[in-house]
Amino acid sequence: MRLFDTHVHLNQIEDVDGALKRAKEAGIDKILIAGLDLESNRQIIELYNTHKEYNLYLALGIHPFRPEKKTLEEVCDLIRSRRDNIAAVGEIGLDYWYKEARKKGEGRDLQRELFVAQLKLAEELDKPVIVHSRGAWGDCLSLVREYQLKQVLFHWYTGPVDILKEILNEGFYISLSPSLEYSKEAQAAAREAPPEKILLETDSPVSYKSAAGRYVSEPKDVLRVLKKLSELKEMDKEKIAGITYKASCTFFNITD
Ligand SMILES: [Zn+2]
Repeated sequence: MRLFDTHVHLNQIEDVDGALKRAKEAGIDKILIAGLDLESNRQIIELYNTHKEYNLYLALGIHPFRPEKKTLEEVCDLIRSRRDNIAAVGEIGLDYWYKEARKKGEGRDLQRELFVAQLKLAEELDKPVIVHSRGAWGDCLSLVREYQLKQVLFHWYTGPVDILKEILNEGFYISLSPSLEYSKEAQAAAREAPPEKILLETDSPVSYKSAAGRYVSEPKDVLRVLKKLSELKEMDKEKIAGITYKASCTFFNITD
């Protein structure tokens, strides 16, 4: 059984080597590491270069929580210069639950400006995009539809099922995090989407709830997502692992 953790912020993990080792032991064969801002993009490039013994894949981008316009050109240059090394542009998107963007106005306009610039770049470079869409699912969908994008992933999808149906109709993908163990919205999404369009992720080191209390996630916790998804889909774990691994490789254009 092979697994792919498709969303990790490796630069934020305290014990990087330990976490990667434990992931490998748990059967996590591949890990995509995503950037958030100029600094973290540089850090994950460094981690990618210094951990060649693991199957790491890179995504670079500016997250809607870090909408610093002054860094946009520099991040775009970084993405261009790494075009042969990156698996995707991400994590990019809109977040209307973010304090500066709860209401229409400057905060949202800035997120949108950065998102659009990076969508254009992904189109130009013919790369998949990893979209953060919390509270802004419909607006993210309308925007990605405007570009000819190679692949689109709505990461950690917890939005409404009617928008999910449109996402799937477009041929786009979603990913599910360990919140699947308790989030009604994530569970509804898991039931609706076919396994061929679902990727597994942890968004490590995000902390999640569990029966034993809160825990700080690391890539090996993708096993929790697998277990819960196999229960919800009433399919055995090996089968779900195989389908979602293949879907991840297809999405990121990885031949393996
Ligand atoms: Zn993330």
